[in-house]
Amino acid sequence: MKFHSTRNEHEYITLTEALLKGLAPDGGLYVPENLPRLKIKNFKSWPKLAEEMLKPFFKNGDLEKKLPNICREAFNFKIPLYKLAKNLSVLELFHGPTAAFKDVGAQFLAACIENIKSTKNELPRMVLVATSGDTGGAVGSAFSGRKNVNVVILYPQGKISRTQEAQLHCWKKNVTAIAIKSDFDACQSLVKQAFLNNQWQSRWHLLSANSISLGRLLPQMVYYAGASLQEYERRKKKIHFIIPTGNLGNAVACFWAREMGFPIAKIGLALNANKALFDYYKSGEWVPRPSQMTLANAMDVGAASNFERLRALVPDIKDIQDSSAAISASDVDIRNTIREIYNKFDYLICPHTATGFYAHKMLQWAPAVVVSTAHPAKFTEVIEPLLKLKLKPPQTLKKWIQNKKIEPTALPPDLDRILNFISDKA
Ligand SMILES: *Cc1c(COP(=O)(O)O)cnc(C)c1O
Repeated sequence: MKFHSTRNEHEYITLTEALLKGLAPDGGLYVPENLPRLKIKNFKSWPKLAEEMLKPFFKNGDLEKKLPNICREAFNFKIPLYKLAKNLSVLELFHGPTAAFKDVGAQFLAACIENIKSTKNELPRMVLVATSGDTGGAVGSAFSGRKNVNVVILYPQGKISRTQEAQLHCWKKNVTAIAIKSDFDACQSLVKQAFLNNQWQSRWHLLSANSISLGRLLPQMVYYAGASLQEYERRKKKIHFIIPTGNLGNAVACFWAREMGFPIAKIGLALNANKALFDYYKSGEWVPRPSQMTLANAMDVGAASNFERLRALVPDIKDIQDSSAAISASDVDIRNTIREIYNKFDYLICPHTATGFYAHKMLQWAPAVVVSTAHPAKFTEVIEPLLKLKLKPPQTLKKWIQNKKIEPTALPPDLDRILNFISDKA
C-alpha cells in the first residue's frame, strides 16, 4: 500500500515515510491510496481485529512483520460497549493510561516509531508537540521509556489543570515537558517554527504526534469496526455513530472504517460552540475561524486540521449531508446534558462526551452508539458542583493526583532558550 498527500495524487510514499513525516511538504495530509473493502464478519478481540484490519496498509512495508506486536501493544486496555437503553450504547474509549481516547492512537504511533530502524545518517529522533491538555499526556505516556526517541512537550503555563500538568511530568527521562509563559497558540507556533528552523533541523530528526499523524488515525478505525461488528451480530442492523469532534481525527477514522465495508450507517459529528463544521454542513462552505473556549476544551478548535481528509474522501457536500450530520452544543447544552444523562441512566459523562449525547437527542438516530472520549473524573471542576457529588478517580488518574511535587521549568516563548534547555539535558 502506498500513501499520498491530499493535495497531490501522483506522488506516492511508503507507510514508514508517512509515519516519520507529519504534514506533506505541499501542506496536505497523507492518506492511503485506497481503502480496501474487507470481509471481516466476526469480532474476536481488539488486537486480532486491529491486525486483520490494518494488514493491507502494512503489506510489503518495513513494519509488516511487527504489526501483530504493535497491535498488542496499542490495544492493551479494555474498550467496552456499554448498553444504556435498547437503541443506545456508549463506546468507552477512556480506559487507557491517560483516560482519553488519544491513548489508542498515541500508543500505536509510538510502537511504530520505535520499530522503524534508524538509517545510518539519521539524527536522533525527537517528537515535538504542543498541548492544550490531553494530547501531551497521551503522547508522553505512549513514548515514555521507548528506545531511540525523545519527546518534548510544550504547554501554556497556568492554563491547564493540575491533573493535566502532573500527567505531563511523570514519565521516564526521555520525556520532557516545558511550561511556556504564554498561551496555547504560542506553543503551537513554536513547534511550527522549530520544524522550519535550521538549528533544530541539524540536531534532531523532528517528528510530530498530533492528530494529522497517520499513525494515530489508522488504529482509530479499529474501534469503530469492532463496535459496529458487535452491534451487527446482535441486531443484524447497521449502527449510527456519534463522535465528539475537534480536529476531526477521531471522526475521519470512522468514515474510513465505513468505507472499508464495516456495518456503519450514519456518522454524527458532535461539536461544541466551535461550529465551523456545522456551518459547512449547512452551506457547503468551509470557513475556518479562531477557536473559542468551552467546557469541552479538547474540542476548542476553530479549523479542524483533518478537514482536508474528510473532503478528499467525500468531495461532494450532498454526499456528506446524506451520510452524516453535524450538531453544535453550547456550554449550557453541555451542562444540561451531563445532568440529564446522570438522572436518566445513573451514568456519568465528561463535557466532551456530553456534546455527543446532546447531538444524539437532536438527531434521534437509532440504533446509535455515542463515543465517549474521556473519563468524567478528569473534569471534576465541571461535574462535581453541577451534580453535587464527589467523583472517584480511576486507578490510572490517582497516580498523578497523588504525585503533587512537580516543579516545572517555565521558559518564555523563545525558540533559542528552549533549544538550550533541551541541549543541556540531553
Ligand atoms: C482530542 C479530543 C477530542 C477531539 O478529537 P479530534 O480527533 O480532535 O476530533 C474529543 N474529546 C476528547 C476528550 C479529546 O481529548
